Amino acid sequence: MDFRPGSSLGTFLGVGGLVFGLGFVVAGPPSFADVPDAGGLEPLYAAAAEDVEVETLSRGQTLGQLLSRAEIPHSDQQNLLLAFQEHASPQRIRIGTEVTLRWRRGDGWLRGVDVAVNPDEVVRIERHELGWNSSLIETPVWTDTVYVAGEIERDLWSAVVLNPDLSELPRGDRAQLIDLMDRIFQWQVDFSRQIRRGDHYRLAFERKVRPDGSMRESRVLAAELVNQNQPFHAIWFDMEGEGEGGYYDLDGDSVRRAFLTKPLEYRRISSGFNPNRFHPVLQERRPHIGVDYAAATGTPVMATGDGVITVRGRQGGYGNLVEIRHANGFMTRYAHLNGFASGQRSGQRVSQGQVIGYVGMTGMATGPHLHYEMHRDGRPMDPLSVEIPAGEPIPPEDRQRWREARDVHFAMLETLPGAPGVRIATRDDAEEEHAGGSEDE
Ligand SMILES: [Zn+2]
Repeated sequence: MDFRPGSSLGTFLGVGGLVFGLGFVVAGPPSFADVPDAGGLEPLYAAAAEDVEVETLSRGQTLGQLLSRAEIPHSDQQNLLLAFQEHASPQRIRIGTEVTLRWRRGDGWLRGVDVAVNPDEVVRIERHELGWNSSLIETPVWTDTVYVAGEIERDLWSAVVLNPDLSELPRGDRAQLIDLMDRIFQWQVDFSRQIRRGDHYRLAFERKVRPDGSMRESRVLAAELVNQNQPFHAIWFDMEGEGEGGYYDLDGDSVRRAFLTKPLEYRRISSGFNPNRFHPVLQERRPHIGVDYAAATGTPVMATGDGVITVRGRQGGYGNLVEIRHANGFMTRYAHLNGFASGQRSGQRVSQGQVIGYVGMTGMATGPHLHYEMHRDGRPMDPLSVEIPAGEPIPPEDRQRWREARDVHFAMLETLPGAPGVRIATRDDAEEEHAGGSEDE
């Protein structure tokens, strides 16, 4: 948490809101004039000669009861609810739902009702000559870019969640940023074990913001983590220009590896890879050729790498099993599942991080856990110590485009205070120094 009071960064990340605009910074409050994708909540009538009342649905209250305050005839109210029902069920509105009543000014004639059925959708009911019309409106969002930096005093969670510069972000969104960073840097740094006091992070992320200030979507554009004085970078680059990019370090090498470091969020490793294990159920010496991750029943299990599902079904002691074939002779297995992800079948292609099933204890298992195996060329390997192949680097024909994108995204980070005394260099810098070196010598 490293904003010196009075610095320009402190100002634009402080009360005045976050930094808006992509790339180069336009400070100031959000202006709907330059909002790219705000779907419109048009005023009901050109002249806004209306009074608006916002009600919140309380426990046990129905939409009908709330509407009865509008003093419209019972049949009229029934028709309004029918119109609402075209888009959402009146019985399934949550407590706390905002209902906006729009009255004609003067005589209190009800013109329309807006019901915010979820954070992204509003059912708008409008009066017309014969009754009521309803429509579903997507809540407008705006896009902005947020810059934040901090020093880790205790752990990454408190460094990000308690960062005062992010105080405008709902707590859940701040926690989501940590999850994004964990996913991006999982191959470089084990966040639960390797983070140290004095580590430093810088982050630029783009988000789509709802009117209530929460994020609909976010994407980290550039991230830096200095862990025990070693800097790690991840820069977003969309090679195909189709929104399916990835993260690369400053040299253009992929940050991602061919396999995730773990297939799930687990509590602990209950049994490691051990070719000489004494089996607790069989009471005999039996090799354990996988890793057991203890986790609650129902915890989502992800494919650790891109591949094709080759087995998806019940198989003896494995219980419910998914087996995936990957490139370069790799195969992974996920056993004892409680259930499979819906809509998938054997022969289907899955991508890294895609949910394929849920933790359970089917087959030979003494408690809920995931049994995970990794094989290469038919031989079982210890997933925790196997050398995982690197992702593809930026190919030569895309390098110029990559350098330009990298420089813009890295400049975003450089507007923030960095970790003191850490020198950041790229192979390009080394080449340039080498090329210009003769002048210095
Ligand atoms: Zn096992």
